[in-house]
Amino acid sequence: MTQSNYSPREKPRWETYSKCIHCGLCLNACPTYRELRQEMDSPRGRIYQMIQVDRGALALGPSFVRHIDLCLDCRACETACPSGVEYGRLVELARSQIARHYRRPLRSRLLRRLFLAGLLPHRRRLECVGMILRAWQQSGLEQLVLQSHLLEALSPRLARIARLAPRLEKPFFTRQLGHVVPARGSRRYRVAFFAGCIANLAFARLNEATLRVLAENGCEVVIPKEQGCCGALQVHAGLRDLARRLARRNLEAFLAEDWDAVITNAAGCGSVLKEYPLLFEEEQPELHPQALRFSSRVKDVTEYLAGIDFNRALGPVPARATYQDPCHLAHAQRIRSAPRQLLRAVPGLELVELKEAEVCCGSAGIYNVVENEMAERLLAAKMRRIDETQADLILTANPGCLLQLRAGVAGSKNPARRVMHVVEVLDKAYQTSP
Ligand code: SF4
Ligand code: SF4
Repeated sequence: MTQSNYSPREKPRWETYSKCIHCGLCLNACPTYRELRQEMDSPRGRIYQMIQVDRGALALGPSFVRHIDLCLDCRACETACPSGVEYGRLVELARSQIARHYRRPLRSRLLRRLFLAGLLPHRRRLECVGMILRAWQQSGLEQLVLQSHLLEALSPRLARIARLAPRLEKPFFTRQLGHVVPARGSRRYRVAFFAGCIANLAFARLNEATLRVLAENGCEVVIPKEQGCCGALQVHAGLRDLARRLARRNLEAFLAEDWDAVITNAAGCGSVLKEYPLLFEEEQPELHPQALRFSSRVKDVTEYLAGIDFNRALGPVPARATYQDPCHLAHAQRIRSAPRQLLRAVPGLELVELKEAEVCCGSAGIYNVVENEMAERLLAAKMRRIDETQADLILTANPGCLLQLRAGVAGSKNPARRVMHVVEVLDKAYQTSP
């Protein structure tokens, strides 16, 4: 047999890819296949290429890397697959092989290293960059540059990416790390809150709203100080050694006590936190039991609230709303009904179902930056579906999707529409409660 073009450590495994029966039922669920209609950019085609690389029949070279890069890791193919192929696992391992054995162009290497390894894992550095960006945004210079069309003339792609930049909020949520938020009324649960990395700077108000909603539901919320970046973006980029280092830090921070749950409001983070055991299956297996213990506690905030007898003393939030499923909630965590159940309990909120709500909006971590063209195509398709609903409030449950949908709304004919997290609606409803 020809030698595999993967190295033996953490590679796509026969036990996983051999489940694929090539039926093609995943094709129309795949956003890149829907756009390009090319087998090689479908889940089945990508699995075929992974097998060929393993058999030594295809080089781990530019063509393979291109098709794997273009995958959103949205995992819509997993929920469509009748054969139980764990595609996310396959693509993440293929990417770890690419990260170790394929030399990307210098600029791409530098940017990935700088952002994923040099910035996200370091809270202080993130805060410094955040403060500089916040000053830039608040000075009005950012607006001036965007409106001058200077960036557009220099690079239309750069101009599009600049519009995706999150608003840096004051104060950052980092100052809440280490704090405890008491339950309102009698305490029924004691939970830990996972605050994220960029979310500490760009979604500080969302994090605070999440704490208030949990407190309204009888939760005392502890925000462990030593927690850090979950490692999701690193896992998606194939940087598994770095992701493991980040996971270890979180295991230490969150396993120091026994909580009723570890809560996150970010579907992308929640998905990887629940999958920490996969990081320790082959490497550092001595940490596998700890990872299992930790992941069994992790809950998306919508999942947790719908799972307890949540406080229904909600005031009215009058709006015509629609809900976009974050891929890592619907496909990776299989959570679809919990956010809808919560939203349907809010008086005055008319929830209109969005067609193709389970198709990726194009956000996908840093995909909308590194694969901006495809991300824009997916966003345009998403906005057409959203327009059909005539909703004035667009809801989702993941910070990355919030940014992407806000960019879509800002560039649309109706930029007055609001884009909110499900938890922010609940927070509003508790505040208007009689
Ligand atoms: S993860 Fe998403 S983009 Fe990638 S193959 Fe599956 S459906 Fe397609
Ligand atoms: S649906 Fe599953 S079994 Fe069928 S081609 Fe896609 S991955 Fe393979």
